[in-house]
Amino acid sequence: MGKVIAIANQKGGVGKTTTSVNLSAALAEDGCKVLLIDIDPQGNTTSGLGIDKHGLAETIYDVFSNSVPLGTVIVNTALDTLWLAPSNSDLVGSEIELSGRVGRELVLKKELEQLRSRYDYIFLDCPPSLGLLTVNAFVASDSILVPLQCEYYALEGISSLLESVNLARQQLNPELGLVGVVLTMFDSRTNLSRQVEKEVREFFKTEVFDTVIPRNVRLSECPSFGQPIIIYDPLSIGAGAYQSLAREVRERVEGKKPEEKKKTNLKDAMRRLLVNR
Ligand code: ATP
Ligand code: MG
Repeated sequence: MGKVIAIANQKGGVGKTTTSVNLSAALAEDGCKVLLIDIDPQGNTTSGLGIDKHGLAETIYDVFSNSVPLGTVIVNTALDTLWLAPSNSDLVGSEIELSGRVGRELVLKKELEQLRSRYDYIFLDCPPSLGLLTVNAFVASDSILVPLQCEYYALEGISSLLESVNLARQQLNPELGLVGVVLTMFDSRTNLSRQVEKEVREFFKTEVFDTVIPRNVRLSECPSFGQPIIIYDPLSIGAGAYQSLAREVRERVEGKKPEEKKKTNLKDAMRRLLVNR
């Protein structure tokens, strides 16, 4: 049964999408079957995987607002074992359209019940808000992964995030856990990054992953090429960081020694991207 993980922080620009795309891709490269669901109307995960968000017949919007089954909107990506449920700005409407509906918090959970056994991991890239879409993610998930940017006020807003998680736990999803906190955009040249890391580790203790994602230009470039970092620049430090995070996630979810899976051939994925262009 696939593990459902919401990548969430209502703070904008902290690395949710970069983590969603690149952690999913690193796990897929490792041979895991991964479904990434874009539940942000910005659709950055969708375009970051090279999918034209304006040319789609159906998106996650149709799942939330038109009762289209989740399976129908899922598309392939350049990686063999990575699939995407895409999104675009239509999804703005769902937040409003859902609000008057009975069972509005349960839409995603119900859809995933039918599908989760097909995947090893299902990630949900959440929008920077604690609205109904994020609540749907909290109700549908086994656990949450929180990216924190190494910036002043990194922990600001964390109490409302945790409150929201607690509310979902109390009312709809008692089993909801935290898979971990990941520090992003770490700049080893600044004291600030080190200070933030120290503070976050004091606050979240062992919940913080050992892997820290460095600030890396290659990571900020790859979305405009519609490629995850392991395809765009497999030898970059950003690629290495997300591969290391993927191993840690597997250790936490699957136990100490995750079973070896057949690796995805990156060359095939690159060739496919070139052909598609
Ligand atoms: P939003 O809240 O708007 O959805 P987000 O939390 O998903 O934002 P991202 O889109 O992943 O954040 O990142 C914000 C910006 O920072 C993007 O331009 C991204 O390319 C850049 N970025 C993210 N992580 C890194 C990194 N490790 N190194 C360099 N740039 C990064
Ligand atoms: Mg995002």
